[in-house]
Amino acid sequence: MATPIIGTDQTDARGLGRAERDIVALGIAVAALILFIGTSGSVMPQIVASWTGRGEAPDMLLTNAVVLNIALLIFGWRRYNELHHEVTERRRAEALARELADTDPLTGCLNRRSGGPAIERLVSKCATRQDDVAVLMVDIDNFKQINDLNGHKVGDLVLTELARRIRSQLPEAGVLARIGGDEFVCALPFMPQERSRVDHFVAELIELVSQPIEHDGCHLEATVSVGVASLRRTDGAIVEGDGEKLLHRADIAMYHAKKRGRNRFYWFETQMENELRFRAELENGIRRGVAAGEFVPYYEQQIDLQTGSLVGFEMLARWNSPQFGLVSPEVFIPIAEEIDVISELSDQLIRQALTDAQTWDPRLTLSVNISPIQLRDPWFAQRIMKMLADHGFPPERLEIEITESCLHENIGVVRTIVTSLKNQGIRISLDDFGTGYSSLSQLRTLPFDRLKIDRSFVAELADESNNELVQAIISLGHGLSLPVTAEGVESANILEALRGMGHLKGQGYLYGRPEDAAATQQRLADLGLLAGSTADDDRSHRADPRRLAG
Ligand code: C2E
Ligand code: CA
Ligand code: CA
Repeated sequence: MATPIIGTDQTDARGLGRAERDIVALGIAVAALILFIGTSGSVMPQIVASWTGRGEAPDMLLTNAVVLNIALLIFGWRRYNELHHEVTERRRAEALARELADTDPLTGCLNRRSGGPAIERLVSKCATRQDDVAVLMVDIDNFKQINDLNGHKVGDLVLTELARRIRSQLPEAGVLARIGGDEFVCALPFMPQERSRVDHFVAELIELVSQPIEHDGCHLEATVSVGVASLRRTDGAIVEGDGEKLLHRADIAMYHAKKRGRNRFYWFETQMENELRFRAELENGIRRGVAAGEFVPYYEQQIDLQTGSLVGFEMLARWNSPQFGLVSPEVFIPIAEEIDVISELSDQLIRQALTDAQTWDPRLTLSVNISPIQLRDPWFAQRIMKMLADHGFPPERLEIEITESCLHENIGVVRTIVTSLKNQGIRISLDDFGTGYSSLSQLRTLPFDRLKIDRSFVAELADESNNELVQAIISLGHGLSLPVTAEGVESANILEALRGMGHLKGQGYLYGRPEDAAATQQRLADLGLLAGSTADDDRSHRADPRRLAG
């Protein structure tokens, strides 16, 4: 079978392909032409002579053959023209289909399929020419939020406008592709000694993109985080790299820019890759650690500063990791939140703490920290109540600490949760007060039981002339009828200053570092404050800072 001329091998009912028919048509036309040349040389003069009356009528058979010949020539020529037209049309359709397959229909940029090879081509071209090339990974910040708040139509508008702005900046030799929902990648060649031009280009791009987008009379704002990777290092040495490698590096640098606060750019550096690997190890470690029960509660004493009595403990999470040792919650809580294991982790810790606290004097309270993510769960209050019921732990002994950032999230759900917890007798404290910009009206509308002044403010009391801020926060608490706890009581000076400011609770290193369950139990045994302990002498409650500090 003949090879199809234009990429199709449709076959008709008799088994003849269209292309075969075309070849047959061409063959007939060529044969007709040869015949025409052969016969017309003798017959045509006879026909002309007969028409003009200067000769005999030509042989009928030959005349018919010439007429047939002419018909065949016309047929062949028409068929050839049709074929030519068909080929052009089909080529055009194919080019259009290819373009559609290579283009992102929304933004008109190259898409993921075609973007990679286009960048690959540019990179290898630059590499052979001794030029350099910058590959930029551009990711819109909080795009999900833009979509959720304004709808997908507005999200699309933002994408189109951003693509337009990036394209307007890009030099002609550059490549722009949309490779994910809110991810663009571009590549631009540059001379190795002109690295600062790339800095300038990216800075301008970030600035241009952050200009508000007008829509329906309102301003939409979007920013981007950008990671940049190039073929050459700053010292001029060439890194082994193809387009894919540069894309991967630009992606790592972009992730770094996100972590550093978004709306900025970073060039790839090797240590970012190590950080990322470390981060992945932490994530896996946390997941495994939750399953293996490696997270344990530590306890920090809470003291009535007027009387010096121990009134309860704040539970602070620690990760007893076989790989990393004892890890601070400041490291693992944010990651546990991001990878969505915070609720499971917190439930485990609270259950352990409830078990531990059952051995304490029943007058001692237990405070636990709750992440804003946990307050997104409308069943949170029910889950806490179930845990209390399972452990036979009185709700009045439990205090839940939430930070101001909880108030910025879905305040309706938070209010419902807080109200149900309070209805059961659980108390709610506002933690780290003063660091999270909560509005005073929010403070009034949520029924808190206590304010905890953040330790950064309390630390200022070390300098005696610096107590106005803490004083103001305490007055605010009094004005709202909220008792106050001072965190970070580190020294006798601070304790003295706080004692002069009214009746407060406090906690801090002056009374000792947070301790594990066994050490806490030992401390309580020494103070005669275990459950069922008979000692009820007021002095035995007293946490002596000099004895307990360090
Ligand atoms: P936080 O709730 O403000 O907890 C107090 C932090 O201050 C603790 O750090 C404690 O060790 C530290 N601290 C106590 N006294 C002093 C002092 O005198 N000076 C100084 N400089 N620091 C003091 P830690 O245990 O590292 O906890 C850090 C944060 O991690 C906590 O801050 C809390 O926000 C969070 N966290 C801890 N456990 C949990 C938990 O189970 N769930 C959640 N969601 N967050 C937790
Ligand atoms: Ca706390
Ligand atoms: Ca705090």
